[in-house]
Amino acid sequence: MNATTMKMSSSAIRDLKPSELPQIVMPRCEARPVLRGQTAIVTGASSGIGRAIAIAMGAAGANVVVNHVGSDEPALAAVDEVTNCGCPSRGQAIAVRADVSDESQVQAMFATARERFGAVDIVVNNAGLQQDAAIEDMTLAQWRKVLDVNLTGQFLCAREAIREWKRRGPRPEVSCAAGKLLCISSVHEVIPWAGHVNYAASKGGVMLMMKSIAQEVAPWRIRVNSICPGAIRTPINRDAWATDEAYADLMRLIPYKRIGEPDDVARLAVWLASDEADYVTGASLFVDGGMTLYPGFEAGG
Ligand code: NAD
Repeated sequence: MNATTMKMSSSAIRDLKPSELPQIVMPRCEARPVLRGQTAIVTGASSGIGRAIAIAMGAAGANVVVNHVGSDEPALAAVDEVTNCGCPSRGQAIAVRADVSDESQVQAMFATARERFGAVDIVVNNAGLQQDAAIEDMTLAQWRKVLDVNLTGQFLCAREAIREWKRRGPRPEVSCAAGKLLCISSVHEVIPWAGHVNYAASKGGVMLMMKSIAQEVAPWRIRVNSICPGAIRTPINRDAWATDEAYADLMRLIPYKRIGEPDDVARLAVWLASDEADYVTGASLFVDGGMTLYPGFEAGG
């Protein structure tokens, strides 16, 4: 190219505007069997992020326990999707009802998983809920409910899993690690959230619970990590994306200018649980389209 054409083309070129870009989302891809022969318990897996993780782990070869608390139907539909996903190396799946904040129900769920599949290799602490109120109106019941499910529920499942992994050690035929614990936290483990103090406190608690457990059990080759989603299109935050106005408002918080999909989280969960992430422990990995990049400062502050 000579100097003249260089000058012409550079003046003709302009950057695309963000609004001109097509909205492209990764298609569900052909899964590689990176979790073959392992068993995963996914809590709160009858909807949203948990459901997507259960299906993705099943497609990657894991046997999956679809934990749920509500009616059987959506949990059985998730089981059906794992069983019939068409991936050649897909695992098997069962639905197990258990309230993760109840110690005996959690222990019974692990016993069922071991009876059915022999061992538990992966636990995804996903079950969670919100009960929002201004601080002056928040009842003790709302505070306790959110802490019980989002934080105590994660502790109970973590403890049960680690008891098995420390007793048994690695199963080298399926993984380098004795076990993998994934805590589904939130961007609100670092971003304060007015009107949601119970939820933000629970996720802040998950962060240091996860890191403290990771430090304690790493010598037993147990890996413990968190996934921190931003805004993901699920029932928990329908108000934030269900109308055009709400969606446009939400985009002010997301530099990448699209809402996250449950599969965005599921792909990271499969990778973190696999031996491809064998040297990763004690990490909070954000899958948030840049929500934690202080988007309020994108125009210079
Ligand atoms: P969701 O409401 O679809 O999923 C939550 C699931 O947890 C439901 O299936 C619910 O039945 C289950 N659950 C509630 N209480 C339970 C209990 N006591 N025992 C067992 N299961 C119980 O919403 P989601 O967005 O898929 O949420 C999944 C996780 O992701 C939650 O921990 C949530 O805090 C986290 N998260 C979600 C977003 C988002 O934008 N959707 C962002 C950050 C973090």
